Amino acid sequence: MIHKYGPHIFHTNSEDVFNYLSRFTEWRNYQHKVLASVDGQMLPIPINLNTINKYFGLELNGLQVEEFLASRAEKVYPVKTSEDVVVSKVGRELYEKFFRGYTRKQWALDPSELDASVTARVPTRTNKDDRYFTDTFQAMPLHGYTKMFEKMLSLPNIKIMLNTNYQEVMNEVTYKKLIFTGPVDEYFNYCYGKLPYRSLRFKFETMQTENFQETGTINYPNDYAFTRITEFKHLTGQKHDKTSVVYEFPEATGDPYYPVPRPENDQLYKKYQALANQLNNTYFVGRLATYKYYNMDQVVAQALTTFKKISQVEIAKHANEDDIIMNIKPEIK
Ligand code: UDP
Repeated sequence: MIHKYGPHIFHTNSEDVFNYLSRFTEWRNYQHKVLASVDGQMLPIPINLNTINKYFGLELNGLQVEEFLASRAEKVYPVKTSEDVVVSKVGRELYEKFFRGYTRKQWALDPSELDASVTARVPTRTNKDDRYFTDTFQAMPLHGYTKMFEKMLSLPNIKIMLNTNYQEVMNEVTYKKLIFTGPVDEYFNYCYGKLPYRSLRFKFETMQTENFQETGTINYPNDYAFTRITEFKHLTGQKHDKTSVVYEFPEATGDPYYPVPRPENDQLYKKYQALANQLNNTYFVGRLATYKYYNMDQVVAQALTTFKKISQVEIAKHANEDDIIMNIKPEIK
């Protein structure tokens, strides 16, 4: 079992989101772990106590590591960029070893040119917790995402047309509500210009060996053209005498996967958002349609919120109709 569009690891703090998805899948507990290959060593990322001790050859405890990091951290105020976030926590050396190269590869931008929110996705820890995420719910769909979506889409009132641009059918399909999840700039025919998106090329490989690497993902911040290698068996729990991995090569062109969080792009998005807000009965949901670097759970939450909003509008509409009906005085003959 592989993830055709790159490794997707589900994690959330929202019980509502988890419960909702549980209607469509059973789960397999999975706590993702990542190592970074730095100067020939495999070190835990997010940076934690073990990372520091191994990298610097020290034996610090939790308190000592806090002092150690504080002595290296640079004072930055206000923290605005992805460089600021990291150097203000761990100092320049670790920033350069773990973040600068990876970020330049992934985004073709220096961390100083990206919003703080990008590298802030990866925290710094002074304990030994070596999990990539710390959310309450961390699990993978037991039979895979494909089965989960098949179940979601199996309702009789859902019809799917693949390989169809919405513009081809816009005028033939009648609808009460339109929910658009494609790129928002595409919806408006790029009238204000293109929003930048970052893409990836995936290179899949199946090895004639049962295991390939120690953890689900290994990051290569400073070497190679790819950013990371993921071995799917760790994520899926599949037992097999071969193993499949994916290498991620960041690209400027290709399918849009990531919005690029930086002020000028946000400003351009706001212009499209203003157009979107003027439309009645059309809703924009998801990473591409709201130009936000959302995780899967945030998108599910956004979808559920949109559903609530739409149903409240409907209830309000019907309530009005009822009021009108109630206010019509019967004609007396
Ligand atoms: N990042 C980094 N070094 C790492 C891991 C992440 O510099 O070892 C930075 C990089 O800019 C990356 C961002 O943090 O794009 C977010 O990482 P995450 O693993 O959340 O990326 P995703 O899984 O969404 O591609």
